[in-house]
Amino acid sequence: MRRLYIDFDGVVMDTIPSLYSALEKSGVDTSNQREIGIFFSTFDFRTIINDDFILNDSINCINKLIESNRFEISFLTHVNSLDEGCVKVNYLRSKFKCITIIMVPKEISKTKVVHSEDAILVDDYSGNLTEWEDNGGIAIRFSKDLESHGFKVLNKLDELLNMFDEEGNLKC
Ligand SMILES: [Mg+2]
Repeated sequence: MRRLYIDFDGVVMDTIPSLYSALEKSGVDTSNQREIGIFFSTFDFRTIINDDFILNDSINCINKLIESNRFEISFLTHVNSLDEGCVKVNYLRSKFKCITIIMVPKEISKTKVVHSEDAILVDDYSGNLTEWEDNGGIAIRFSKDLESHGFKVLNKLDELLNMFDEEGNLKC
């Protein structure tokens, strides 16, 4: 089975548009990284991590991936605060009993926390995918509008079943 790491924000859950619109409305000076950091670390993620924000049927798609038995699945998500991490773990654990959940501090590369070599990362952020490829991993971009940015791209997680064969090898 091939290891498969699934990002959370912008892949499982459509948190990004609401988060950035809340940032805009807050009056925070968006040229000030410190202020932005404080906003993110004090934001109540419960308001955007719930069933209303499920992205392109992600939960059902992940269940299909589990049933296929082709992947050893983990969630791999950046967090701004421990509170955000708790909200994510509680939500994901309410949906999936057995999937490992790995929280990565925002300041650290995902490749520093898990072994990327020969593993798949599905992520919406090209920066993460570039680092992943540079460290021997297989990078797949998630994009609602199928914007590839030079990567293989999908907008529904069960498309992985078409992209990879029974052994978890990339088809083309
Ligand atoms: Mg993301």
